[in-house]
Amino acid sequence: MNETHDTREPTRVPDTVVIGGGQAGLAIGFHLKREDRDFVILDEQQRIGDAWRKRWDSLRLFTPARYDGLPGMRFPGDGLSFPTKDELADYLEEYANRNALPVRTGVRVDGVRREDGRFAISAGDRRWTAERVILTTGAFRDPRVPDFARELATSILQLHSADYRNPLQLQPGPVLVVGLGNSGAEIARELSRTHPTSVSGIPGGELPVRHGRAAARLVFPAVRFIGLHVLSRGTPIGRRMLPKLATRAAPLIRTRRRELAAAGVVSVGRVTGVSDGLPVADGRVLAVTNVIWCTGFRPDFSWLQVPAFDETGRIRQWRGVVTSVPGLYVLGLDAMYSINSESLPGTVRDAAYLARHIAAERHLSATPPRTAPVPASSRHSTAAHTA
Ligand code: FAD
Repeated sequence: MNETHDTREPTRVPDTVVIGGGQAGLAIGFHLKREDRDFVILDEQQRIGDAWRKRWDSLRLFTPARYDGLPGMRFPGDGLSFPTKDELADYLEEYANRNALPVRTGVRVDGVRREDGRFAISAGDRRWTAERVILTTGAFRDPRVPDFARELATSILQLHSADYRNPLQLQPGPVLVVGLGNSGAEIARELSRTHPTSVSGIPGGELPVRHGRAAARLVFPAVRFIGLHVLSRGTPIGRRMLPKLATRAAPLIRTRRRELAAAGVVSVGRVTGVSDGLPVADGRVLAVTNVIWCTGFRPDFSWLQVPAFDETGRIRQWRGVVTSVPGLYVLGLDAMYSINSESLPGTVRDAAYLARHIAAERHLSATPPRTAPVPASSRHSTAAHTA
């Protein structure tokens, strides 16, 4: 059996356990492999790429193929095209196979603790211990739905965008899409072909040009540059703007307001509650039979039993290094270093940095002091300064 699909527990003790085998886990896996590290990638899905495969049927990436490749293997085909979610999933599977990455699928990690100076990782009755753990479980993990969703009449079909696949899932009658980020806009446009559709929410701006091949050639290089190098924690403007941008809805990229209006989608303002089992937007009761919640996600680290969190519940980290727990790292979090950190180009860049950092840490810990120990006040870490 190909190692990538082997779900048996390894008999050896890996030095590093990577939790999550999506693009972030595979990207850091590439670097660990190149350095000949002993590691394993654990992923709960049955097949590599399933996190993408399970998204809605018609989903296409916004990022052109030329920016969708992981280190060492460009995305195949026309660089100005926009891959489908299944093409991306198949690419990830091929990537893992070609690089012989040790991915164990069907393993859902349910605990990470510190034990005798190492990490103890559990998945049901299976156990691993490791010196390092890299968390790559994804920013789009736990679907968020407002509390008042519970008050909607049981006759209304409710789905989160995480569970939406296609219009056939819906009941006949009007549909309300709640949330006007990119998922909400794309799903609303698709549903407008089969159902009277309204959308609730205020977008965080719009791409000023039409999304497509010309934008992929002329505009995306600038968008990518600004996303990676300007709106990052490495620049004063990035440090000022990132906290604000991270809490705002993302700008609409492909389906903007004019495309929604042209498709007959009605904008209804903000949904604020429920009256007699029906949603209320801007004081108006909406007689709909379907509600699609495009209200976002949060990461889920409920199984992480180490003091890695700040007072707001976010992982306390700098460029993926969890500062309060030596040996713990994270990749793919929303705006974790740049505004692009949870997307393909950002993850690839963050993974390369993290790999360099870990290599430098190892080098320092493996190098015996050549002279008398350096006084603490003048000691510095090469790794910490590669930022
Ligand atoms: P994931 O792909 O979510 O992978 C994490 C993996 O970890 C999953 O397989 C998951 O099942 C597994 N896992 C989680 N918890 C555990 C556990 N406890 N134990 C074991 N395994 C676990 N980015 C772009 O660059 N371009 C785009 O066009 C684009 N479009 C997007 C469209 C949508 C609808 C969404 C939601 C996101 C999009 N993104 C896009 C953002 C980003 O690229 C994706 O979310 C991508 O899947 C993130 O990769 P990841 O590896 O960080 O996380």
